[in-house]
Amino acid sequence: MLRIENLHKQFGDLAAVDGLNLQVGRGETVVMMGPSGCGKSTTIRTVNRLVEPDRGRIMFGDIDITKLNADELMAVRKKIGFVFQQFNLIHRLTALENVMLGLVMDGMPREIARAKAGAALIKVGLDKHFQHKPGEMSGGQQQRVGIARALAFEPELMLWDEPTASLDPILVREVLVVMEELAKYRASTMLVVTHELSFALHVADRIVLMNKGRVVEEGVPTQVFVKPQSSIGEQYKELIE
Ligand code: ADP
Ligand code: MG
Repeated sequence: MLRIENLHKQFGDLAAVDGLNLQVGRGETVVMMGPSGCGKSTTIRTVNRLVEPDRGRIMFGDIDITKLNADELMAVRKKIGFVFQQFNLIHRLTALENVMLGLVMDGMPREIARAKAGAALIKVGLDKHFQHKPGEMSGGQQQRVGIARALAFEPELMLWDEPTASLDPILVREVLVVMEELAKYRASTMLVVTHELSFALHVADRIVLMNKGRVVEEGVPTQVFVKPQSSIGEQYKELIE
């Protein structure tokens, strides 16, 4: 479903992404890990071109995302859900309205958008919070609204950039549970940047370890965390033991 080939992104003198290759198969959950600053966010943001890559191909099915014009890109972005570390909710709107907003702006009739937004909120366990504004919800609930907002478009691919990183430790679990259910029970394809080792170990189909803008190791969790082949892998193994 997603195939990134020889991706490069330079910021001034810094090669943030330096010849990265990565594939995510249909239905697969791939967890991307690596030290802070190694290029995870830059990589994931090139997929919907929030960051413009310098070089390389990003194949989404048989479409090269790097070659699309603005209109084509808009159409493809609807198929790719993105959940960020920051929830970016609109504070004067309710949970339901936050999830509806993108659908309505995309031209969907309000009643259909309302139904789809409601279904997405139910999927993330927020059936009782349709009318709550972000300020009336916990961080974990707000992030679940963020997830529902992405799900409402019924994306083919979900990108997650440290979705639990700005949550209090006790709120992390409720978000991980939602992510785990999506990984398991939906036929969704997920590329997840996270430092949550337990999620990586138990939910990922495959782990990709990055360092200095490249993939240094990849494999199934037991392989990467039990018999690592890279120094980065060794560091994660020690964390798990
Ligand atoms: P990660 O998500 O793995 O922590 P990032 O992809 O955010 O890493 O960043 C990779 C490197 O690129 C870091 O050194 C970061 O400071 C740098 N970087 C990221 N975005 C920009 C930008 N817009 N301008 C300049 N440097 C950037
Ligand atoms: Mg990052």
